[in-house]
Amino acid sequence: VILSCKNSNFKNIQLINKQIRLYSGSTFDVLNPVNGTVVGTVPDMTIDEIKEKVEKASDAHHEWKLTTAKHRAGLLRKWFNLLEQNSADIAKTLSKEAGKPFNEAVGEVAYGNSFVEWSSEEARTVLGQIIPSPYKSKKILVEKHPIGVVGIITPWNFPHAMITRKAGAALAAGCTCVIKPAAETPLTAITLTQLAHEAGIPENVMNVVTVNVNKASQVGTLFCTSPLIAGISFTGSTVVGKILYRLCADHVKRISLELGGNAPFIIFDSADIDKAVEAALVAKFRNCGQTCVAANRFLVQSGIYDKFVAALTEKVKKLRMGDVSQPDVQLGPLINSKQFNTVTRFVEDAISKGAKVLLGGKAATHIGQLFYEPTILADIKPDMKVYNEEIFGPVVPLIQFKKEEEAIKIANSTMAGLAGYLCSSDVNQIFRVSKLLETGMVGINEGLISMAEAPFGGIKDSGIGREGSIYGIDEFLYVKYYCLGGL
Ligand code: ADP
Repeated sequence: VILSCKNSNFKNIQLINKQIRLYSGSTFDVLNPVNGTVVGTVPDMTIDEIKEKVEKASDAHHEWKLTTAKHRAGLLRKWFNLLEQNSADIAKTLSKEAGKPFNEAVGEVAYGNSFVEWSSEEARTVLGQIIPSPYKSKKILVEKHPIGVVGIITPWNFPHAMITRKAGAALAAGCTCVIKPAAETPLTAITLTQLAHEAGIPENVMNVVTVNVNKASQVGTLFCTSPLIAGISFTGSTVVGKILYRLCADHVKRISLELGGNAPFIIFDSADIDKAVEAALVAKFRNCGQTCVAANRFLVQSGIYDKFVAALTEKVKKLRMGDVSQPDVQLGPLINSKQFNTVTRFVEDAISKGAKVLLGGKAATHIGQLFYEPTILADIKPDMKVYNEEIFGPVVPLIQFKKEEEAIKIANSTMAGLAGYLCSSDVNQIFRVSKLLETGMVGINEGLISMAEAPFGGIKDSGIGREGSIYGIDEFLYVKYYCLGGL
């Protein structure tokens, strides 16, 4: 097996080859979803090798937890600076392994970097408290302490940002971490980690481990059951999140879960059509629909339905699908055949149950094996998969409604509760509906809601915990109380 990274980028080749040299055993290939070519080859580490990494992270925590917040803030700032300097290179790698349009990859890198910058600033804001005591003789002091080693498991749809959003906060809190990226996108993860080491973050304070797709569950079991790991931070499917949650019970382990969504996107009669279409496009077609906050069901009020659908269809028709390395391409392939088959199956299911195809509705195999045409489906009913499940593809399912209450009922008729969107010009309606949506996040006349300063996360089956914002760091801290007596 040739151990190499066939990336056009020199710096990344060096970083990834350094990681490969550290391990002697088997490897697996990373494929470009655009055309199936090999982008790179990475170590398929053994579980014993990963255990060793966990032990090293645990040893490293003894020193790291004693560093000052100022020290950690400084290192995170250096890491951020290096990420910024290498942004274009990281975006190239990311675009290739994730099949993400290059401009979107550049956007993800800027977004991912912003979490490291934010964490460097947050590190110094972790404050304790002195609480008024009911006794003259006792004082109540409260401090926040890092929980220990964090096991981080991330998906392929945001190979950069899902790591920085977790690792940045964990390191700021004083935790060490072991990161297992998705097997589809390990090259970005390796690059980020190597840059962290170059910035001065010690090697065992932030580790990355790579395994082939079939070994993910063994790593999950190791992370969740190892007494050396204090907490898990996971982004991925609801099915896997629930498995990890159960596994963590035995050690009553801290876990934060960012799982799947089934976001409603509600367009009310009073909406500004142009703004609604713009928001809909970004909420639906970013990363070809493969985001957990992607709009999944479009609920359109009857008075605006025809106009909105016509305007949206017009715009969607113009989206360019193709090789993501081309600058004007807006839609790439789906990540792998599993995802491709799911999207195909969901659309077929909807059509067989009476959905009307307004656009697309089929694969775009003339471009490549994993490409699926942007699709708009009308007459969606509650028994269809596109209504009930997360599509993770470029498919717009349309549902027409008459009354506001009806829209809220449909929106909430799911166990998912991550993001919800509504477009309206009626201020009263905006507050009324936003309050009633059973989601952790609401986009109002806006399809792109995520940023480092805002709390990202869901309710119901979509997860527990928050990432980013002033809340994100709390996932990695515990509250410790000292009772100072005899005063
Ligand atoms: P998707 O279906 O979108 O790939 P997954 O939840 O399967 O979502 O994957 C998200 C992350 O979880 C990836 O890093 C994947 O390797 C990992 N993973 C998959 N199955 C398990 C498991 N049983 N235990 C731990 N991690 C897993």
